[in-house]
Amino acid sequence: METRLLELEISTDWRERAECRDYPTDLFFPAGETGPAEIQIRQAKEVCARCEVRDDCLLYALEANQRDGIWGGLTSDERKRLRRRWLAERRRRTG
Ligand code: SF4
Repeated sequence: METRLLELEISTDWRERAECRDYPTDLFFPAGETGPAEIQIRQAKEVCARCEVRDDCLLYALEANQRDGIWGGLTSDERKRLRRRWLAERRRRTG
C-alpha cells in the first residue's frame, strides 16, 4: 500500500511544474476540435509547447485514457490515434 501511494505521488509530481498552471483550465478543454475551437486549441498547444513536463503529461493522459481536453500538446483525437499505437507497442514489449 505504501509503495502504491509513493507511485501515485511520483506519477503526479510533474503537475507542479506544469506550464498551464498559470492559465484558465477552460483553455485546455475546447468545445470540439473545429470552427472557433481551433483557435483555442492552437493557443493551448502554444502553452504546451513551452511546458517542461509535456512528456509526463502526455504519458499520464495515455495511461489514464483521458478522453477530453488537451494533454501533452495533443487533442483528444490526436491522442486517440497515438494511444492505439502506444498500446500495441506496450503489448509487444511485455509479450
Ligand atoms: S503539456 Fe500542456 S496540458 Fe500538459 S502540463 Fe504541460 S501545459 Fe499543461
